[in-house]
Amino acid sequence: MTRKSPPYYILFTLLVILLCFMVLFAGFLLVRRSNEDALPVHTTALASSEPEPEPEPEPDPALVQHPLQTDPQTGAYLPPAEVETPDYEYYKNLIAARKEAGMEQVISQPEGEKKIYLTFDDGPSVFTPDILQTLREKNAKATFFVIWNGNPAQQQYYRQIIEEGHELAIHTYSHVYKKVYASVDAYYSDFFRMYDFLWDLTGKSITNFRFPGGSSNTVSSDAVKTGIMEKARELGLVYYDWNVSSGDANSKKATVSQIISSVMGDAVPDGVVLMHDTAQKDTTVQALPELIDTLRNDGFTFGTVNATRDNPRQHKKLPAPEPAEPSAETPSA
Ligand SMILES: [Zn+2]
Repeated sequence: MTRKSPPYYILFTLLVILLCFMVLFAGFLLVRRSNEDALPVHTTALASSEPEPEPEPEPDPALVQHPLQTDPQTGAYLPPAEVETPDYEYYKNLIAARKEAGMEQVISQPEGEKKIYLTFDDGPSVFTPDILQTLREKNAKATFFVIWNGNPAQQQYYRQIIEEGHELAIHTYSHVYKKVYASVDAYYSDFFRMYDFLWDLTGKSITNFRFPGGSSNTVSSDAVKTGIMEKARELGLVYYDWNVSSGDANSKKATVSQIISSVMGDAVPDGVVLMHDTAQKDTTVQALPELIDTLRNDGFTFGTVNATRDNPRQHKKLPAPEPAEPSAETPSA
């Protein structure tokens, strides 16, 4: 009876000691394993002489789309802030970086030798969906030289134009002649508001544009016009005019048949047709289906102005840049 009492606490003590050893051993194993886990990355990397995986590159700030501000009441996108003097160097680098990254619009152009380019200025408007629908039904491409539109119901059309394979191009932000033609800086302050807005909205760097009133407009001085053209060349932007009039900008509203006969009277291969996408131009919208059919019957296919980027239709242009080597085309006189 006296011999039976000790084993309980001895056994208990032994058990505790055993448990302590087990815990220590388990701890040892764990530490060893975590060291082994950490090691192989280096040893295999060294052994196979493969380069270590590159850390995720920081996103190029030039390629970041900033969220657009919206009006809390209407949900409309708000325009980017206006700056007095644009930072040309900044935009030059931005445009180059986005071009390099393939962020310009790519528009598939139709086959065919005899091309014509339908262009719509001053939109988007209440008629943009009708124009897009006709283009869709007739399987024709067009170019839209757009301005700022603060109507939340119509702001979606900027994107829709791109999504449906047409060309989105810039026609300034405000289209206010007095304002944009006050100086070269005034022009580009206005222009870059639209450029920035369209970038943030669509993720496309839009580098094709049209002067309000065309490059031969009589509102801006020659010095301002030339300055805008020089800056465009420097920045990697290209402007486009037209050589086929639809007459839809005449002071007296053109009828459907007048629009069609005006275009057909001027239509030539590589012709650029000037039309308008505004709430007042209902006859342009009505004329469009028959106009496309008539042009097509005449053998035309419908491209976008980007196809002519190397040789754009321009009323006024700068002299060609100095060739690197004397060219046979350079007049000797
Ligand atoms: Zn215009």
